[in-house]
Amino acid sequence: MQNKSTDEILMDAYPVMESFYTIQGEGLNSGRAAYFIRLGGCDVGCVWCDVKESWNAEIHPKKSVLDLIQEAENFPGRLVVITGGEPAMYKLESITSNFKSKGFELAIETSGAYPISGSWNYICVSPKKFKAPLVESLQMADELKVIIFNKSDFSWAIQHANNVKENCALLLQPEYSKFDEIMPLIIDFVKENPKWRISLQTHKIIQVP
Ligand code: SF4
Repeated sequence: MQNKSTDEILMDAYPVMESFYTIQGEGLNSGRAAYFIRLGGCDVGCVWCDVKESWNAEIHPKKSVLDLIQEAENFPGRLVVITGGEPAMYKLESITSNFKSKGFELAIETSGAYPISGSWNYICVSPKKFKAPLVESLQMADELKVIIFNKSDFSWAIQHANNVKENCALLLQPEYSKFDEIMPLIIDFVKENPKWRISLQTHKIIQVP
């Protein structure tokens, strides 16, 4: 099969639920200005998902990579976060190669349930019980971010930490609706298991999207 030309790749299009310039609130990149692209489409089915409107890809209009780059270039930050939905459902080489060629740093947030395509500067895998992560995806993670919804999620977190590379950051994040109940448990856990650290949804505190 003939390779696509650069122009053809720039016209590759993805269902985009929303895209916006903001502050990354979670994980090790917390506090950094970033252009977020939320792709539509997810079949993971987390009961506590706070972006359920992302699940159906068909209701979200497609945008070309060229359009996304032109939008992102309107802002001074050069960190792009591809999230969802479940962005790894798509082949993402067109996004990563073209954004990188324009000087952007590329980060992805994925459940790890699908193979991760594309070339990334930073990979956050946040595994979900509702659709198990692939070991190959866990091994690519720079950051393992486990959402703690109930007590049994700590052993789930430990189980997946066995599959990540040595220098992968290990993060526990309280599920937002259970913050008051779960946070004391996370604090105790991290004090006992200091290779883990706490991730908070600081964008909700500073009230940015
Ligand atoms: Fe929602 Fe993310 Fe879970 Fe998909 S993986 S259901 S978008 S929280």
